[in-house]
Amino acid sequence: MSTTLPERSLGQQSASPLTMRAARLHQVGEPMVIEEVERPRATGTDVVVAVKGCGMVPNLANVLANWETWYPHEPLPPRPAIFGLDPVGIVEEVGDQVVGISPGDRVYVNPSRSCGACHACTSGAPQKCDYWTFAGYFGFNQRSLEMYARYPHGGFCEYMLAPQAAMVRLPDNLEFRDATRLGYLGTGYSAVRKLGPLAGKTLIVNGATGTLGVGVTMLALALGISRVFAVARGVPLLERLRELAPHRVEIFSNTDGGTAEWVRSRTEGIGADFMIDTLGAVASLDSFKDAMLGVARGGRIVNIGGTAGELALDVKWLMDESRELIGSAWFSTAEGLELADMIRYGVVDMSPLRPKSWPFEQINEAINGVTSGDGGFTSYLVEI
Ligand SMILES: [Zn+2]
Repeated sequence: MSTTLPERSLGQQSASPLTMRAARLHQVGEPMVIEEVERPRATGTDVVVAVKGCGMVPNLANVLANWETWYPHEPLPPRPAIFGLDPVGIVEEVGDQVVGISPGDRVYVNPSRSCGACHACTSGAPQKCDYWTFAGYFGFNQRSLEMYARYPHGGFCEYMLAPQAAMVRLPDNLEFRDATRLGYLGTGYSAVRKLGPLAGKTLIVNGATGTLGVGVTMLALALGISRVFAVARGVPLLERLRELAPHRVEIFSNTDGGTAEWVRSRTEGIGADFMIDTLGAVASLDSFKDAMLGVARGGRIVNIGGTAGELALDVKWLMDESRELIGSAWFSTAEGLELADMIRYGVVDMSPLRPKSWPFEQINEAINGVTSGDGGFTSYLVEI
């Protein structure tokens, strides 16, 4: 990688049109409307990306319809809003202070937005910033509204403005369609990293056949875990998961009994070293707790799922046996770069994943049409 500064001192602005097509949501519960809006220009350390595709959050219509009831403290972007969490595209234009990113670069745009200047941001942990926000999805407190004023674009539009710190350059062997999966994979990667060294260790993946669960299983295997205890409901998708590494993935349908008991039966009564929970927003906390209780003394539990609610937890159980429970939100751009590199060199094999796409004009069909026939093996995107 070159360390020399680019010769130009001014930003590179393109001659592309002044307006663009964007899918905007005017009111929750209504369909999105594709309309002409002003096209952003890049200034300072910001970049404009010509969007080629954007990953679709499964069940987005339902999530948006219920969000403000479920999580009233977490604001959606002000309407009319351009949603879209996982954009990929080609850098169109860079601001005059951008370094190392050039027009023509193929990128995944990390939707993570943060202030860039606080202790958390400058120490490489932007998810801990008070301003941390998902561009094109939702924020975590009222400060996110300041981020939306600066960065109003998700990926369901032709050109989006984003900070240079959000750019994950894509390897040539990663197609745009597959790259829209990087958000969920990056979230799984960040969780797996928080477990620590994986060699000789065992991991329970709760919700293993979902979008996050399949990614976590793939990444833990790629990074050297010895055994994965894959737990979900449906057996056919679990069997498909086992095919990733038949000697290292053991599968269990939790409709057949308790997860903790099953894991102990597979580990001479000891339990697993780690558990990652990946369940969705409407899952039962009982499942989380049951999987957690399968973790051995000294074990580590990381939550990246969307399940909400209060969990009755014996804190002495955590303390007496030196267990840790960690919440892990999304991933840093640095982790995205590491993931891109692992894909470039074949450490992570994307071939088990199957993207399914809709044209931009059918965005409302895509929002309502995302179902989980192939569970987490299928990813969904809109091509722009
Ligand atoms: Zn910050």
